[in-house]
Amino acid sequence: EYILEAENLEFSYMDGTTAIRNLSLKLEKGKKYAVVGNNGAGKSTLFLHFNGVHRPAKGNIKYKGEVVNYSHKRLKELRKNVGVVFQDPDNQLFSASVYQDISFGPVNLGWPEEKIRAKVEQALKRTGTWDFKDKPTHFLSHGQKKRVAIAGILAMEPEVIFLDEPTAGLDPFYCTEMMQLLDDFNQMGATLILSSHDLNEVYAWADYIFVMNSGEIIAEGLPEEIFRNA
Ligand code: ADP
Ligand code: ADP
Repeated sequence: EYILEAENLEFSYMDGTTAIRNLSLKLEKGKKYAVVGNNGAGKSTLFLHFNGVHRPAKGNIKYKGEVVNYSHKRLKELRKNVGVVFQDPDNQLFSASVYQDISFGPVNLGWPEEKIRAKVEQALKRTGTWDFKDKPTHFLSHGQKKRVAIAGILAMEPEVIFLDEPTAGLDPFYCTEMMQLLDDFNQMGATLILSSHDLNEVYAWADYIFVMNSGEIIAEGLPEEIFRNA
């Protein structure tokens, strides 16, 4: 069984731009996926279908084999289990402090205070953001903000995490650290999907790769296969 599926997805923005064209894919639990494609290929748009922010004009999203019908209950379940980390952390962080930002999701889930504190502290430690937990997020560097955005998703302990260009804007040393951080979550059982415009960056990391162009998946397979045919 697949944890998430997209079936014949179609999506256009209000201005008429078609961002996703007849796209289908299947994700297995516990794996590491990469979606590779140029800017504008549709990666971000695709990711936002998996937590219900975008609804397909045609086609379906399935979670654990069941079509997501966008009822309040089903959307809540989806957002609890599927986290999306945006490419630009400034679009995700808006609270007065790092700690509050990371607490936002868990508070929304209605968890008891004790559990919230434990999960937020764990996320702070795992992402190396503990030292600036009381700072306002707008005082942080880009790399620090990215880690806070990831911590906010992690604290909710989703089964699946989509990360939109997690290493964009980080220098090479921090890129390596970021990929290691992601590996740790995967080892704890999370299914990961990250986007990148650089096949070289994800080739050694991913279990399986989808290549996107103009809203379509134009190739998919094991990294060696994709690399050989690129
Ligand atoms: P990627 O993440 O691969 O860079 P996007 O999903 O951001 O691709 O964009 C896919 C297409 O949709 C592009 O043509 C882009 O210009 C367009 N697009 C993205 N966001 C919007 C929007 N809010 N309104 C209109 N068009 C958009
Ligand atoms: P800048 O060097 O431009 O401020 P960073 O946010 O990347 O940008 O680095 C700020 C500090 O955060 C670094 O000195 C480093 O100690 C820490 N740091 C950055 N990225 C990571 C990471 N992925 N894992 C652990 N620590 C990091």
